[in-house]
Amino acid sequence: LRLTRADLDALPNYVPGRSPADLARELGLPEAIKLASNEVPYGPLPGVVEAVTEAVTGSHRYPDMGVVALRQALAERYGVDADRIATGCGSVALAEHLVRATCLPGDELLYSWRSFEAYPIIAATSGATSVRVPNDAGHGHDLAAMAAAVTDRTRMVLVCNPNNPTGTAVRKAELDRFLDSVGEDVLVVIDEAYREFVTDPEVPDGLTYLDRPNVVVLRTLSKAWGLAGLRIGFLVAAPEVAAAVRKVVTPFSTSMAAQAGALAALAQADEVERRCALVVAERDRVTEALRKLVPDVPSSQANFVWLPLGDRAVDFGKACEARGVIVRPFAGDGVRVTIGTPTENDAFLAAAEAALA
Ligand code: PMP
Repeated sequence: LRLTRADLDALPNYVPGRSPADLARELGLPEAIKLASNEVPYGPLPGVVEAVTEAVTGSHRYPDMGVVALRQALAERYGVDADRIATGCGSVALAEHLVRATCLPGDELLYSWRSFEAYPIIAATSGATSVRVPNDAGHGHDLAAMAAAVTDRTRMVLVCNPNNPTGTAVRKAELDRFLDSVGEDVLVVIDEAYREFVTDPEVPDGLTYLDRPNVVVLRTLSKAWGLAGLRIGFLVAAPEVAAAVRKVVTPFSTSMAAQAGALAALAQADEVERRCALVVAERDRVTEALRKLVPDVPSSQANFVWLPLGDRAVDFGKACEARGVIVRPFAGDGVRVTIGTPTENDAFLAAAEAALA
């Protein structure tokens, strides 16, 4: 008797990482440091908890399924029409809805690898065929090779910019060339979960490409906006693509708490900018310190750094955990480390030094 799909067995699990409480208990420490999920370490933005608390006094009712107020606020902030916006339970769910709304079984979904671990899971469970193009020697997308891998079955290309987990980013000239070469019947999804941490002026804002109807921009409020626990992401696309996504989205999946929290967060843009600047300064400090231990750490445009440790990745992760710091190893490849507070980063750097000594 087989109760589940056989093809799921071959898929890796989305790994949430270890619980800091469990690790602290195991090590007998007051607390462990979690630098594994690319969250910002400063707590919810001012006003968010109050807005959510207020909103959930009405939680015996369904939320606004049209997400009208939030879509309008996003439209104003990003200078686009609200009919181009769809929201969902995190941008990972939206990516899934987008594939569901646009890809048929057998359609090819192309992405660089290594990239966001949810992509292969989304492709496989949606019936699309994953086509992976290896990252270039600098751990970033090889857009020329990706363009060459497009076939007449390619339905969607995912460009993760900056790329999770390597932190690299594609620049405007390369992306322009890529978009010119792929043709308008291929959807190009620019996943900008980490856009707010980009400091290189050559890295383009995906929203500037919306005059191309095949471009879809995915954003999240989980990272810079500090709402990971409320689960809220959005996409901006051609109106008919956004409408198709809103049609297939799980009904009411943008909860009342998520809508209220997001509206309150959007009113705190200045504070978000201040926090991002702190993260960026720490990112650059941590990168420089790590390069003394691992010479080929790529420059990051996100709120994490990548250590290309190859076969040493898992042992390095264990050594950091033994010192109370949870990082994210990818077996045989590298380790992703989220930027935390200066104290957390110092604890990580001490652990890294000990691990690599
Ligand atoms: N895209 C990328 C590249 C990510 O790294 C993540 C989170 N790890 C997401 C999307 C999804 O974030 P969320 O579902 O929290 O919006």
